[in-house]
Amino acid sequence: MSRNNCFVCAVCTRRTRFTGTQSLSAECCSECYQIAGIDNLLNDCPNERVDKNYRQAIHLLGIIADRGGDISAVIAENLYAFP
Ligand SMILES: [Zn+2]
Repeated sequence: MSRNNCFVCAVCTRRTRFTGTQSLSAECCSECYQIAGIDNLLNDCPNERVDKNYRQAIHLLGIIADRGGDISAVIAENLYAFP
């Protein structure tokens, strides 16, 4: 997959492209990639379960919803970020 190609996000299923935020091996959009990072953080580090992480996850979910993504799939994939 080349850096400039559009592809379908494996999580929210909307068409996206690499922004530089995701790793090149990621098969998801920038927002899903960031949510997955928050989800991993909250899973690995219970002390990080602070409001700003949850607020950021909700903020990213709003962007996905605005752009036509499947937010129920995103929530189902990230149960630590959306408890
Ligand atoms: Zn996505």
